[in-house]
Amino acid sequence: MTTLIFIFEDIAIGMVKITSLCTDCVQVITNPLCPYCFSRHVVTWLRDKKLPEYRLKRVKQLLRSLVLEAEETPADTKCIVCGSQRVNLCTYCITNRVTAIIEKNTSRKVVRNFEEDFDTIVWRI
Ligand SMILES: [Zn+2]
Ligand SMILES: [Zn+2]
Repeated sequence: MTTLIFIFEDIAIGMVKITSLCTDCVQVITNPLCPYCFSRHVVTWLRDKKLPEYRLKRVKQLLRSLVLEAEETPADTKCIVCGSQRVNLCTYCITNRVTAIIEKNTSRKVVRNFEEDFDTIVWRI
């Protein structure tokens, strides 16, 4: 539950209505990738990490709340993958958010793996 509360607190603090800026760090979003597409990558990536089912479920749930948050945040930045206008976080911040989720729900090894893989994946997209 702590992660979820943390996320909601963040929304309240980060209510910046300037749409093409990241709602977390208020930098211009370059390389826009929506939380939905990012989450899909994460879930695919997690498949061979052999997480217990309940852990995987929890991660998916938390990722889903990231996506919902993005859908509720006014944004006019289009995702470079799916084209929908729900990009509210820059690549840096969304990676941070997802890293926090992975950290809470997986092992240190998976986190390290995630950081290595997503550094390259994100910048290649
Ligand atoms: Zn940001
Ligand atoms: Zn997308």
